[in-house]
Amino acid sequence: MMPPMLSSGSAKTAWRKGNCPPGAHAVKLLLCSLLAGCIPALICPARGGPQWHELVSPHYVLTTDLSPQEARTELLHFEESYDVLARFAFAASTGPVAERTQVVLFRSPAEYHDVGPQQTAGRFIHHPFDPEDTPVIAMFGDYVNQPRRVLQHELSHFFIARYLPSAPVWLNEGLATYYETTVYDNGKVVFGQAREDHLRTLAQLGLPPLRRLLLGGADKFYDDASFHYAGAWLLVHMLNQGPGHQRTRFYSYLNALASGQSPEAAWRGSYGELNLEHLDQECRRYMISTWDALVADFRPAPAVISPARQLTDSQVHLTWERLRDNSAAGRATARLDLQEALAREPGSAEANYRLALRLAGEQPQDAERLLRAALAVHPQEPRYWHAMFRVRLHAQALSPDSEDGAAGVQQAFAQLVSLGRSARALDTIARYHTEREQLDEALDFAQRSVDRDPGCWACRDTLAQILSKMDSPAEALAEQRRAINLLPEGLSLPSLHRRLKQYLQATWTKCRRTPLGAVPPEACRALTGPAETPP
Ligand SMILES: [Zn+2]
Repeated sequence: MMPPMLSSGSAKTAWRKGNCPPGAHAVKLLLCSLLAGCIPALICPARGGPQWHELVSPHYVLTTDLSPQEARTELLHFEESYDVLARFAFAASTGPVAERTQVVLFRSPAEYHDVGPQQTAGRFIHHPFDPEDTPVIAMFGDYVNQPRRVLQHELSHFFIARYLPSAPVWLNEGLATYYETTVYDNGKVVFGQAREDHLRTLAQLGLPPLRRLLLGGADKFYDDASFHYAGAWLLVHMLNQGPGHQRTRFYSYLNALASGQSPEAAWRGSYGELNLEHLDQECRRYMISTWDALVADFRPAPAVISPARQLTDSQVHLTWERLRDNSAAGRATARLDLQEALAREPGSAEANYRLALRLAGEQPQDAERLLRAALAVHPQEPRYWHAMFRVRLHAQALSPDSEDGAAGVQQAFAQLVSLGRSARALDTIARYHTEREQLDEALDFAQRSVDRDPGCWACRDTLAQILSKMDSPAEALAEQRRAINLLPEGLSLPSLHRRLKQYLQATWTKCRRTPLGAVPPEACRALTGPAETPP
């Protein structure tokens, strides 16, 4: 990606730290409702709650209980945000997308906190039972946590997953926090507004140790989140807007990452050997310096927005069910959502499908029955066949000698191959081929799954396994690193790290033993990364 053509702001738009413009507040909430978790704030229309609507724009499907007029206004802002980030931050195509980003916008914090974690105003929510796992941005907006800012943070993560899947956590959160404050008005877009809350944290606690921030990984980062968010924001701000040629170098680093280089190699190529002491001094100097705003001309592309479609009560419950967390309470509430959805609309294909997903693990026969009901309504729906294939595969594992079971698996697999287009469906097909050692077919589907959704960590994990089986451990290692980088926040899967170690060892061994004799360790270290060289 190219650095966007930006100019430094005039003296009018320059400001000192701690002197931030009105409205520059945090996405993170410091105060939570005392009632949160006790009394559900979400009340469905049938019980006297607000009406919900769905609106479709070129890049989003928005579901919300704001009035249709308010929803339209927000959606126009969201389209502008997409346009700005795509054009200036990630140099991406802004044309129509194959899969629109799903956004659920709650009209109040209390409603959002029925499904989203406290102390947040928005996040990607992943459905733990859904093999298609289409993440949804769930968020609310109010005066402090303006919807546009929350959206810009989450949308940055979306672009990073797509274009910079190797981005380490400090860069991922640093860029999201940096672009969150982007504002535009009257033909101008302004980047890098000061974050009052982060500056306060830095003033109170100082700069986080850079060794931990840069090299500590996601677990350490989120352990002390507000401290590390502040440090990551400052570092990205400096790299983007700092004195000298910082910006050009930063974009050469981002471009190197985007071209598939490891984070270590990309850093070395743009900044030389990582010198933590020097970087620390630069950050401290930057913290107390005067910053200029980055300004660019911007005219939003006109966006066509569909008329608001009112959701039925059943569809409202299905919207909420997708967002419930995986705790015992979250699972129980999700079941209640599905019961209500089915009670009001017993023939709802989607409600039958979603209940089947939740029963698939323990009650595969019930799940099969529900999926048949869903397929009776929509016989060509690839998601239903995807679920059916997995349910039948699971049932077959429980009774491997059943001939009917084997035939059912084959029938569902054939349907999935002919209809499946989503990254996750292609990944499921790739995994099935891998288990059967059909590696050429597996590789084809795995590569298509990653092309379809570069942010799909499971697809990259599968691709790494296939590359490893095909004796390409260095490529497997690079893919596995990306898979781990892309894991949703809070999800830690030891199996992914186990495989990473295995590929690391294999890369090292293969590098050191070539037919021409032993390769010097330094050359192999360049492949495996200095911090991870096996002893
Ligand atoms: Zn974030």
